[in-house]
Amino acid sequence: MPLKVLSVASEAVPLVKTGGLADVVGALPAALAGHGVEMTTLLPGYPSVLKGLGRLRAVHAWDSLLGVPARLLTGKIGGYPLLVLDAPALYARDGAPYADAAGQDWADNWQRFSALGRAAADIAGGAVASRGKVQKFDLVHAHDWQAAMAPAYLHFAPYGGEGGRVPSIVTIHNMAFQGWFGAEVFPRLGLPREAWSIDGVEYHGGLGMLKAGLACADAVTTVSPTYAREIRSAAFGMGLEGLIVARGRAVSGILNGIDAAQWNPASDPALVSPYDARKLERRKANKRALEAEFGLEADDGPLFIVVTRLTWQKGMDVLLEVLDHLVGIGGRLALLGSGDAAIEQALHAAAARHPGRVAVRIGYDEALSHRMQGGGDAILVPSRFEPCGLTQLYGLAYGCIPVVARTGGLADTVIDANPAALAAGVATGIQFDGVHYDAFSAALTRTVDLYGHAEQWRAIQKNAMKCDFSWKASGQAYADLYRALMA
Ligand code: ADP
Repeated sequence: MPLKVLSVASEAVPLVKTGGLADVVGALPAALAGHGVEMTTLLPGYPSVLKGLGRLRAVHAWDSLLGVPARLLTGKIGGYPLLVLDAPALYARDGAPYADAAGQDWADNWQRFSALGRAAADIAGGAVASRGKVQKFDLVHAHDWQAAMAPAYLHFAPYGGEGGRVPSIVTIHNMAFQGWFGAEVFPRLGLPREAWSIDGVEYHGGLGMLKAGLACADAVTTVSPTYAREIRSAAFGMGLEGLIVARGRAVSGILNGIDAAQWNPASDPALVSPYDARKLERRKANKRALEAEFGLEADDGPLFIVVTRLTWQKGMDVLLEVLDHLVGIGGRLALLGSGDAAIEQALHAAAARHPGRVAVRIGYDEALSHRMQGGGDAILVPSRFEPCGLTQLYGLAYGCIPVVARTGGLADTVIDANPAALAAGVATGIQFDGVHYDAFSAALTRTVDLYGHAEQWRAIQKNAMKCDFSWKASGQAYADLYRALMA
């Protein structure tokens, strides 16, 4: 019998995406299908989700789900089962999933996402019948704060009738986003009084939604082994380090994979010149096309790229500091990103200072991100913290050598080209310690030196492209964890 898992999240490709979370949630059903796990995804009924689906069938209705009427619709996502929580009072809005058009967080986010958690608990516990048959789940897998109330509802209102509670897992994709709200919302959650405690949903006198999940889930995972260790400290735990330490062996790290069907330089329709590790010379046409697209001077020196949200987390302020050095040692930079307005302005100013050497595109452009990985020589990822990171994995797959800060998933996926790794023939990139000028600029100098030794650089590219960061190993790891919790 396959294990039936309900995966609960606020984003999943191809229906709704603001970051790496959506890539991961969208990839999980296929990653687990080969391991005897039948995964159903539950998403909020945002306009983009309802629009992106074909025929929808209603299988359940709530007269009042945290005070609003709601329906449950069934559909498919990437060929796998999908449930959509259709509650127009909560989700039928223009703007981004969490904020209005002006970027202001929706004031009722506590209700929008507690309702998602409550619905997940109801569904897993067997509240939903489809074609006369009660649909039950063996386990609930909740992602980030938006889904983290599901374990709390399961814990404080045990479901599962025939002798048993439904076990749950919370996965932390980014500890920086926790979902904290004032105490006044607690009476409206429909939880028993004992839930308002240090072992429940209360956090610093308010409602902590991620905290609730971390306290109530049977297991907690995050998206790399190093980040799982880092969040035990104040610098990375962002206030929740004590709880992470207290959960002890219930906390583990499982790396994200990448979707090899989407990210393969040999068959990528975005590239003018597809290539593989045996035909690396074909990258040159992509590099020339990228230089032209960005208005950069064409030359054979190293072309650095950056694809990112423009935030403090991603170290963009330090990137700005090292730009003169990057240009001074013969590098050029093509950057694609969006986010913080002050960083955008500073990047434009830097590009104006270095015409032909630094070029910036503000916006979100999936196809361009592929062209950059296929034409750039090295991708810079100077994150202050990085739970897993996907862009360095795409860089590895494309032979666009990652230059990364040694933190989180970046530390776990890139092998630094130190003398030992070079001698052993296993280097796949460049790592540096500490996101500040000295470390980052030294890493850039080291990268330019390595690039100057063509044989060595090609060897690093080949090693990088050989890395297998598909979902194979991580799908197995999640399946093993699910089974351990069932046992
Ligand atoms: P995070 O989830 O913290 O933003 P990740 O590296 O885990 O960081 O995932 C980011 C995802 O979003 C990757 O798929 C990356 O290619 C994509 N991405 C980020 N910024 C842009 C952009 N401006 N244009 C296109 N894709 C982007």
